[in-house]
Amino acid sequence: MSDCIFCKIISNEIPSKKVYEDEYILAFYDISPQAPTHVVIIPKFHIKSMNEITKEHSNLLGHIHVSIKNIANELGLSEEGYRIVNNCGELGGQTVDHLHFHLLGGRALQWPPG
Ligand code: 5GP
Ligand code: ZN
Repeated sequence: MSDCIFCKIISNEIPSKKVYEDEYILAFYDISPQAPTHVVIIPKFHIKSMNEITKEHSNLLGHIHVSIKNIANELGLSEEGYRIVNNCGELGGQTVDHLHFHLLGGRALQWPPG
């Protein structure tokens, strides 16, 4: 999608600090980190949000989550713990309309979230 920030990150039109990349997904550091470690994980095709997810995306979602676990491990978060977040839609706090998951770690995170 031509006006999507994350599609531009995928195509390198917008630079990012990449953490992990493969055929299906890209992980990069968030520009406005909310924790000492804050990584954003996205599929490499445009899909707006969790609302658009169907059964056909099951493998992709599984791959995203296994990859997040591996990234957390490589960034040294596994032992102390971390949080995986998906903001969906306006009330969910989604500001970029390209499906993404946040990996947050390196500090104690509040519950319930704000
Ligand atoms: P959301 O609020 O939609 O759940 O998350 C979007 C995230 O994308 C925010 O945490 C925001 O800081 C991050 N973000 C927005 N624009 C950019 C950008 O150009 N580069 C990077 N690295 N992160 C971005
Ligand atoms: Zn996009």
